[in-house]
Amino acid sequence: MDTAYLDELNERQREAVTHGEAGCGGYSAGPLLVIAGAGSGKTQALSHRAAHLVLSGVDPRRILLLTFSRRAADEMGRRAQHVIDSVLAARGKKGQSVRLPWAGTFHAVGARLLREYADNVGLAENFSVMDRGDAADLLDVCRQGLDLARRDLRFPRKDTCLGIYSQVINRQATLAEVLSSRYPWCEAHHDDLKRLFAAYTERKLDRAALDYDDLLLYWAMMVRDDALALAISARFDHVLVDEYQDTNVLQADILARLCPDGRGLCVVGDDAQAIYGFRAAEVDNILGFPDAYPGTRVVKLEQNYRSTTAILDAANALIDESSRSYPKRLFSARGAGVKPRHVTVTDSHDEATHVVEQVLARRETGVALKQQAVLFRNAHHANDLEVELIRRDIPFRKYGGLKFLEAAHVKDLLALLRLTDNPKNEIAAFRVFQMVPGVGPATAREAYDHLERHNHSLASLARFKAPRADREAWQTLMAQLAAAGDRSAGWPGLSEPLAHWYKGQLEDRFEAPVTARAGDIDDLVRMAGHYPERSVFLTELTLDPPSATGDHNDDADLDEDYLVLSTVHSAKGREWDSVYVLHVADGTFPSEYSTHSATALDEERRLMYVAFTRARNQLEIISPLRYYVTEQHRHGDRHVYGATSRFLTPAVMAHFQTTTDRPAARAVAEQAIASARIDLGAAARQLWQ
Ligand code: ATP
Ligand code: MG
Repeated sequence: MDTAYLDELNERQREAVTHGEAGCGGYSAGPLLVIAGAGSGKTQALSHRAAHLVLSGVDPRRILLLTFSRRAADEMGRRAQHVIDSVLAARGKKGQSVRLPWAGTFHAVGARLLREYADNVGLAENFSVMDRGDAADLLDVCRQGLDLARRDLRFPRKDTCLGIYSQVINRQATLAEVLSSRYPWCEAHHDDLKRLFAAYTERKLDRAALDYDDLLLYWAMMVRDDALALAISARFDHVLVDEYQDTNVLQADILARLCPDGRGLCVVGDDAQAIYGFRAAEVDNILGFPDAYPGTRVVKLEQNYRSTTAILDAANALIDESSRSYPKRLFSARGAGVKPRHVTVTDSHDEATHVVEQVLARRETGVALKQQAVLFRNAHHANDLEVELIRRDIPFRKYGGLKFLEAAHVKDLLALLRLTDNPKNEIAAFRVFQMVPGVGPATAREAYDHLERHNHSLASLARFKAPRADREAWQTLMAQLAAAGDRSAGWPGLSEPLAHWYKGQLEDRFEAPVTARAGDIDDLVRMAGHYPERSVFLTELTLDPPSATGDHNDDADLDEDYLVLSTVHSAKGREWDSVYVLHVADGTFPSEYSTHSATALDEERRLMYVAFTRARNQLEIISPLRYYVTEQHRHGDRHVYGATSRFLTPAVMAHFQTTTDRPAARAVAEQAIASARIDLGAAARQLWQ
């Protein structure tokens, strides 16, 4: 067999990639854990392992590859395919392209399996998947139904309720446990919350709607049934998981049911990069893996191929200060490099100007915009920068900010599609009915009751008399819905008239110009064309939305040059030549919300470690002297002056070169302007004397 692809790897990676052996019963392998620091080639090893398995005769359909985002799944699929293609080409078998059909996120794979086995588990096959916003709205409907908010004004807000619910599900803990450990101020509402969650669960089942957490919960419950566990695990010989440190109890549970003795299970991760504890991820999953699966082979990688020594030293110094860490040292394979920089700026406006100047200067030296990224703790830290980039006409993409799906026009069209897909979708129905002028929440409720009384037939809505509604607009919309809801006419043919009709409404609904919004609608229709069914399209879109509006034309991706703006969370697993980290200041990074607890602070430090380790050649962190902090508990903003991040200790700063001349120059300029007084009129008059 041609194994040139193994030569690209170091010895430890090869060990991970080739672990197990091909025999008459297929390729068998015991449990494998790859635990190693950032940039050490874990993801590389995992995609090579997938390729190696296929090249050793494993059917690609029998490999389940789980990642934390669809982008990561696509990227791994591409890397694996590249290896396979080159080997096949060397063997003279050109053109036999191999795809990994089961590569995706836990949530997406869960949705797919639940749909396939819907019949066996008593779910409607066309169930809808709600995003967090819709889930919170539905929870709110239940809260109002139980009259909880009105009876007690201190009852937790809908997002808090959803947060509590989510923690209970993902931690597999009791409500009492979650309340006492995380929401002590809500403990008095224990019984009401319990009633609320029971009503919420009932309502979701009744409306055939699943939230994100249900996708994992129902998947886990499904494989707790022995027969279903057997049926599903028999479909996969190998289960490969990336970023294992950020999985939660439910996900570990699912894997344990799919691979009870760990055979065929391979997980990779880095405990120092565990950054989703706030969403119930459990770092003990990775630390305890060898105990959970006796006979686990543990592979540690120590060569870092991503960053220069200078950057790695700074990152190591930072993570050395955390209270718990699986001991590991990384050695750069890339040479000394330039010391990272710490730059102090006056405020976020100054920060924006500075970053833009640096980015452009780097571009002059041949580093494309695409090879540079600006990272931040919270999406709004980049607001000034966005304004500055737009002003200077510099293309950029933002990840982790206002999502495509959160834009009003996109929500509108999706509500239309969701309602036609599942006429029981109450949240979508409410949004759709209120698109008609004169229809408010009360009328929308009546219309929904009407729909329910008429067996959820969309055609029946034409007969509903909305008191103050624009009659003609109501009739037109309902006719559109009824036509699009007619399943006999197939998909995606019918979504297009609906989208077309909606596009015509844009000018009435939004301020001009509406071209960008119209472009988003066209893109949705185009994207929909790639999916076999409406339900599948809507699920995929909800689970893994394009990152931002106006940003999702994948085909244009290749040639275009743009700067990446991203939250650190969304930058996981990625790398750039130059990385700038904004707002490294106490209260913003670490975030104000985390400064009250040691565990939360540790997670913030790991988050900063993730930020540092995204950089290949150049790292720059920026601290504004003056900035705003939004305070969760005091309800309001406050100005903070000169409090640099507590993570920048002397030990860490020893690895940075510090630039202070910038604010000094500004201060001098500000003083100068304060004392400058000239009389232009006098000067002008003087011209004619
Ligand atoms: P993270 O913890 O950030 O997810 P990782 O451990 O998954 O990082 P990779 O993304 O797999 O690391 O690899 C980091 C970089 O090193 C990539 O650019 C990859 O192509 C390169 N790389 C990985 N292994 C090797 C190798 N054996 N030789 C040369 N380059 C390598
Ligand atoms: Mg990785």
